[in-house]
Amino acid sequence: MNVVYEPKGRAREYADLACNLYMGCTHGCRYCYAPACMRTTDDKWHSEVTPRQKVIEYFEKDAVKLRGDKRRILFSFLSDPYQPLERQERLTRQALDIVHKYGLKSQILTKGCADLIQEDMALMKKSDTHLGITLIFSDDQIRKEWEPSASPVDDRLDVLKRANKAGIFTWVSLEPVIDPEQALDVIKMAHRFVRFWKVGKLNHMKEYENKVNWAEFLLNAESLFKKYNARYYIKNDLRVFAMRH
Ligand code: SF4
Repeated sequence: MNVVYEPKGRAREYADLACNLYMGCTHGCRYCYAPACMRTTDDKWHSEVTPRQKVIEYFEKDAVKLRGDKRRILFSFLSDPYQPLERQERLTRQALDIVHKYGLKSQILTKGCADLIQEDMALMKKSDTHLGITLIFSDDQIRKEWEPSASPVDDRLDVLKRANKAGIFTWVSLEPVIDPEQALDVIKMAHRFVRFWKVGKLNHMKEYENKVNWAEFLLNAESLFKKYNARYYIKNDLRVFAMRH
């Protein structure tokens, strides 16, 4: 069984290759797309987390086949590689070891436990893994409403700062933008220690989506990125939507 796959659609703008180590995610984000992708309920996905069966064994088999491939493997789209279960299972650490062993490229996308990320930083550095943190709110009270069990805003900022200092390539996924003012605040707060930004709009939640002036947000975000001389990528759906409205 292959566990490394080529993402399709919007996910392809994030990574050419990806691998999900866990099934389920306890962060419980209100905007989570994973339950719909996996044809399950929000409650189930956010309460029953399990390691994927033999995922490390299969990942190593894929790694052997991928030797020499320069595409970065993203951990993970459908779960978080640094959710609490990682404390016992250490699947992410084992996967990064394999990435290093076979000379592959990888990137992390997480809003998870700062202590676990910190413990793996030496391995990330050694394996040239890029560390991506999702950060869309500057106000931790609002963050709690939307991402109840994910890590606090300050922890995420701190992790980015430490990783950057340790020489790890840091990036922020500013997606899904829910509150444009807070998203702009995040850019202001983190631009000094973030090397790359990916920005995307909220989708599938019309009641919030329709309240945002996306063209104005895009203009403001790009002007901040230019001011800070930051590298960034605007996802197609945001660019196209902003042009039409
Ligand atoms: S971190 Fe990702 S997978 Fe986990 S609940 Fe939030 S959106 Fe879903």
